[in-house]
Order: sequence, then C-alpha cells, then structure tokens
Amino acid sequence: MEISARARFAPSPTGRMHLGSARTALYDFLLAQKTKGQFILRIEDTDQKRTLEGAEQELKDGLRWLGLQWDEGPDVGGDFGPYRQTERKDIYLQYARKLVELDSAFYCFCTPEKLKKVRDQQIENKENTHYDGTCRNISIAEADRRIADGETHVIRFKTPNEGQTRVVDQMRGEMTFDNKTLDDIILVKSDGFALYHLAAVVDDHLMKITHVFRGSEWLPTFPLHALIHRAFGWKEPVWVHLSVFLKPSGKGKMSKREQADFIKDGKSIFIKDLRDLGYLPEAVINWISLMGWSYDSHSEFFTMDDLIDKFSLDKLNASPAAINFTKLDHFNGLHIRNLTIQDLSHRLVPFFEAKGYKPDPSIMEKITPIIQERLVTLDESVGLAGFFFEENVAPDVQELIPNKMSAGEAYAVANDILMVLESANTVAHEVLEPQMRELVEKLNLKPGQVFGILRVAVTGSIVSPPLFESMEIIGKEKVLERMKNAIKILGQMISK
Ligand code: GLU
Repeated sequence: MEISARARFAPSPTGRMHLGSARTALYDFLLAQKTKGQFILRIEDTDQKRTLEGAEQELKDGLRWLGLQWDEGPDVGGDFGPYRQTERKDIYLQYARKLVELDSAFYCFCTPEKLKKVRDQQIENKENTHYDGTCRNISIAEADRRIADGETHVIRFKTPNEGQTRVVDQMRGEMTFDNKTLDDIILVKSDGFALYHLAAVVDDHLMKITHVFRGSEWLPTFPLHALIHRAFGWKEPVWVHLSVFLKPSGKGKMSKREQADFIKDGKSIFIKDLRDLGYLPEAVINWISLMGWSYDSHSEFFTMDDLIDKFSLDKLNASPAAINFTKLDHFNGLHIRNLTIQDLSHRLVPFFEAKGYKPDPSIMEKITPIIQERLVTLDESVGLAGFFFEENVAPDVQELIPNKMSAGEAYAVANDILMVLESANTVAHEVLEPQMRELVEKLNLKPGQVFGILRVAVTGSIVSPPLFESMEIIGKEKVLERMKNAIKILGQMISK
C-alpha cells in the first residue's frame, strides 16, 4: 500500500492556465485521490511584478471546471495555510536566517553595478556567468552590523564549491551535477521578499508535501532545491519533472506567439478557451492524461474514475508530447457520446444562449439525441440546430434548387411537397417519411432531390440533423410555414 500522498499544484499567477499546468494539476490530483491523500493548491505569487490580474481566478475556475477540486488551498483553507506565498513572507525570512546560521546561506551586499561588472568580465572571458563569491565569507556579526546600518542586501544560498550533487527524479532516474556549475542563487531579494526557490522548498516541507510534479523547465535548479532541503536536514519529496509539450508538428517548443495564434483555427492550449470552444472537461482530462502517462499500449478512453483507478507513477514517461488537436477532437466526440441525453442537453444550453437563442429545455432534450452522434464540439451544435429556435429560416434560393433541376421544376416539386404536408395529419417521422418516399417515386425523382428541397426549406441549410426527426420537433405548423416561404422564394426567382 502506497503512503497517502500530499501532492501540490503550485502555479504562479503570471499567465493564463494552459495544458501544461492542467496536466501537472491532474497528476497531483490523481495521485492524491488514488492514495487517499490530499491535493493542495498553493499560489506562488512571490514575483509580484509579473503577477497578472485575473490569473489566479482563471486558474481556480479552470481547475474546478476540469473537476480538480483541491482539498487544501485558497478559498477552502486547511491546516497548513496560508496557501498564498505573499501571505507567508515572514516565514521565509525566518528560514532564510536559519540557513545563514547553518552556514548554508549568506548576506550579500554587492551592488547591482558591481554585479554587472563581474558579469561583463565573465562574458568577456567566455565563462558562464555566476556570482563570484565576494560576500560568501562575511560573518553573521558583520552582516548584522551592515544591515543595522541600512545597507541594501540580499540573501544567497551558499552552494558547495566542490564535489557533486546527486539528485533523483522518480521518472528520469539519478542525475549528477558538478557543484562548481551551480550558482549561489538569491533566496531573498533586497525588498525582503523570498524568491520561489526558497519559498517553494520551505512550503513543501512545512506543508508536508510528499510528491512534487512540475515542468522540466525546473530541471536546471533541481539540484539547488534538493540542496536547500538537505541544508535544513529535511527529507526531500519524490520529484518528477514532467515532459515538455511540443508544437503539433513535433518540431520544437511553441513560442508565446504561436500559442496565442491557435485560436484563429478554433484551437487553443488555454483551458478557458477550450471550454469556450465547446470541449468537454472529460475530453480535455482524457487528452492531457496521455501526454506523459499511459496505461498500456492500446487503451485510450479514460474517465476520471478510470484514471484514479489506473494512475501510477511507474507509467509516467519523459518523452516530449506533441500537442495533437485531432486527438482532442476525437476524445471530445467519444466523451460527448458517453454523456446521457439530459446531461448533454444541459451542457448545450449555454452555447445556444451565447448566440442569443433562448432554448426551451424540453425542445433541447428532443434535439440532443439527433445531434449527439455528429458533434465534435458543443459549440458546433448551434450551427447545426439553431434553426429549431428560429421563428423563420432564410433559405438561399440557389440551395433550394437541387442539382440537375431548373427553378421551375424545383418550384413544382416544392408545391407537391406542400400538398403532402398539408394532407398529413401528423409530422411524426415514422408516418411522414414513407409518405415523402411515395412522392419521390411518383415524381420519378431521386430521394436526395425531394428531401434536399424539404431540408433547405425547413432548416435553412443543406446540412442538418436527420430531416424527418427534425420536422417532428419543429411541429407541423412551422414546417408548413417554412415550406410556403420556400415556395414564395422559388416563385420570385421564376418570375424574374
Ligand atoms: N510556481 C512554479 C511554476 O509556476 C512552480 C514550480 C514547482 O511546482 O515547483 O512553475
């Protein structure tokens, strides 16, 4: 039996919630659920200059929409709060001081000008730029005096100068870094705010985090984070640096510009956009679950319950995942068909409302079964079924005239159709369809020609959900009205 995991999702509210953050949160959530542990949301907002207005809200909305409700964190509280790093400033200062006392950190009084000079010199010497160690050996007593005198300072980690640091990533295995390649990173800035490196390690310890999933962009500072844990004598969490996402072509990572540009093609890597585009959270979850994890070589349809049941760390993989929107469409279709009529019907309503329709719920439930099979996104349903809620439709005259028919012939057929409709005592599809097929035979035409006129007349479009089922939902009165309107349009065409 695995231990109960405490897994945290620790986003910085500096940008929009995208697939990468959603995947990290999903794996945290799955592990916590699977092991009956806790999923913790921690807002890492120490870099206040980069904090983006509304980003925290978008993150929380995104998590909730995806079904990733956190057990501890902002809004819900918990025993290890506060869960927003700007509210923990004093805790970090206290631990930074402790590190200085442990001789694993030092106060640094180097001015920006001096640091720049050192840097320029290193660049000139073709060395890797790094802190040159000037303040490493200033005693605490001297540092305290200078601080009391008001001298500006930061606190830096005292990285060992020699030897190597071995770290273990659960998925990637052991990695070794030469300590001389590691910089004395800043832990606390001159304004007294801790940087992410210190804050995250202190919080992971105090919040009793057992597993850290994060993006592989954190691999370069991985040894430093491990060293900070070790300097305090703390047990490290299990680390997993997840694979990177590549462009759909599989060639390289996406630029910010490319990320933003997807929306032009009705695609996006941002969670809120995917929601607005009509993707189901179930499909997005299924899709991203497989971008760094797999159950076996063939299974691909997973609900959240399946994932909780099947998720395990040993099936994670480090190979970069190309973003495949075709796959997302595929999963969306599968999950749309997996919904009950009632559920799907409820989810369609907001898309109709967004386009100005006021969909009657009982009609919506009748429409849903006839469009469920063909939907790729929820959003498409409006184009496909908006005509149900229109008072009138506006058929294009050219579309009312089937191939190989003149306007006059179409006009005559339309009148024949109207006669059948008028004499029918019901528009129930199982009654009306045979009657229309009889008409097709009588006129010696192709079903597509007669049904084509009828479809365009009633739905306003050459593509629609199944025609006879649709007419049944629209009702006889409106069907007749629309047919008469189509005849009028064809009549005007002829008299021109
Ligand atoms: N705040 C960091 C980020 O948003 C978190 C990295 C981590 O999980 O340690 O990328």
